Amino acid sequence: MTNPEKVYDFLKKNIRNGFCDDCLEKRVGVNRHEVNTIASTLALFPKEFTRVSATCPQQCSSRDKLVTQAI
Ligand SMILES: [Zn+2]
Repeated sequence: MTNPEKVYDFLKKNIRNGFCDDCLEKRVGVNRHEVNTIASTLALFPKEFTRVSATCPQQCSSRDKLVTQAI
């Protein structure tokens, strides 16, 4: 599986559950820089994914981060 496929697959399996780039890196095993590129690309499909600045639902940090989620 390619890295974009891994991120896509993980988000689809955790539908309606948001993850920041740091959490995606930890959970999917793809480095944060690549996660950023992949998630930005997924955000081009707003019927399938959202990517907004918010507190990460995984509670990894209290500051706002870009959170990606499959809808
Ligand atoms: Zn997080």
